Amino acid sequence: MKYNSVRGTKDIYSPEIELWQYLEKTAIELLQNYGFSEIRTPIFEELALFNRTIGEDTDIVEKEMYTFNDKKGRSLTLRPEGTAGVVRAAIEKNLLVQGGLTKLYYQGPMFRYERPQAGRYRQFYQIGAESIGSDSYWRDIEIIVLCVEFFSRLGLAGLKVYINSVGCAECRPSYRSVLQNFLLENSAPLCADCQRRMARNPLRVLDCKVETCRQVITRIPAIQDYLCQSCRDNFQNIQQTLQKENIAFIADKFLVRGLDYYTRVVFEIKSESLGAQDAVAAGGRYDKLVKELGGPEMSAVGFALGVERVVEVLKKQKAGGWPETSGDVYFALLGQQAQQEAFTLIRDLRQSGLKVEACLENKSLKSQMRQADQYKAKFTVIIGEDELKKGIAVVRDMLTKEQKEIKLNDLVSILKELKLK
Ligand SMILES: [Zn+2]
Ligand SMILES: [Zn+2]
Repeated sequence: MKYNSVRGTKDIYSPEIELWQYLEKTAIELLQNYGFSEIRTPIFEELALFNRTIGEDTDIVEKEMYTFNDKKGRSLTLRPEGTAGVVRAAIEKNLLVQGGLTKLYYQGPMFRYERPQAGRYRQFYQIGAESIGSDSYWRDIEIIVLCVEFFSRLGLAGLKVYINSVGCAECRPSYRSVLQNFLLENSAPLCADCQRRMARNPLRVLDCKVETCRQVITRIPAIQDYLCQSCRDNFQNIQQTLQKENIAFIADKFLVRGLDYYTRVVFEIKSESLGAQDAVAAGGRYDKLVKELGGPEMSAVGFALGVERVVEVLKKQKAGGWPETSGDVYFALLGQQAQQEAFTLIRDLRQSGLKVEACLENKSLKSQMRQADQYKAKFTVIIGEDELKKGIAVVRDMLTKEQKEIKLNDLVSILKELKLK
């Protein structure tokens, strides 16, 4: 019996995994440069946490969550995004300090039951961060700048920043009713979901992907015209600062993000190499969520980036130019005594930080040399009975094909030196 991976999931291995590791390392260094520390929260949480934070009328909650009952009948959900769990943990573990700022980042798999398509998986990975405890618009800027710097550290081009303001508790209700009236007058082409959302949560219609709905959405009244003075100033300040910092952006009045908890400025970063549909990173401010989840009244702003999508962009833009992974030393060993003799040396070299592989399976020299090629070793060490008798090893430079005899006693120190060059 053979088994296949589950639909919408993916195994990640070399050479692609090296891209993931490079991306993760770059992101983590950057997040630490910006003062974020890591938090790891569980992959599953109570269903109610996501219903409450993401919003009952969203696609995620209505259609996409992996929810199950455990053996005691608790209703649990595999996390569809990272913010809810991080905020839950920050409140529960008293990580939030009144008047202070808490900066946390996370990484790991998220789960959504979506229709699998190119670059979209049911188990997908995100790296994200939350800056909790400040309503200063500089914190919004800091997050957007961080995202832009991430892509520039990766050497990626063709990325565009889209921003919008979705208003606050004060001005959103008036926009909501304007939008609701507009949708009621233009309801005929709307899909069944939007017909229902229109009454309960008309903002949700704005991120519907159905084509007939999209056509209605292009004609909606823009939220910018209904922002209160304070939201207007906030949006203005952010745009001016981005300009000053030379960060190109597009103000996009249709951008609302598919989650209910956002307030004020939201943003998405899209890549030209992926087409217009998918954002590679996205985020925004959420000023009500902490209180909503039983915490103090605290403003926050955060973002998440989709690892699979960034990897796709990396593959497209770095095609051919990617450094190959290679090993340092391969040991071709003939006979049991050679294996015994070499194993101690191999341990020593590995301990000193070299990438070392060996054939410990008694294969022919020819097949061992083939393996050394596959391992992309810089040097191959050959030890057989003759070499043992003479107390030496043959060291072959795999690039120049030059071979040298080296005393076994000197082998480790010489290989370390060669590697250093
Ligand atoms: Zn407002
Ligand atoms: Zn729709």
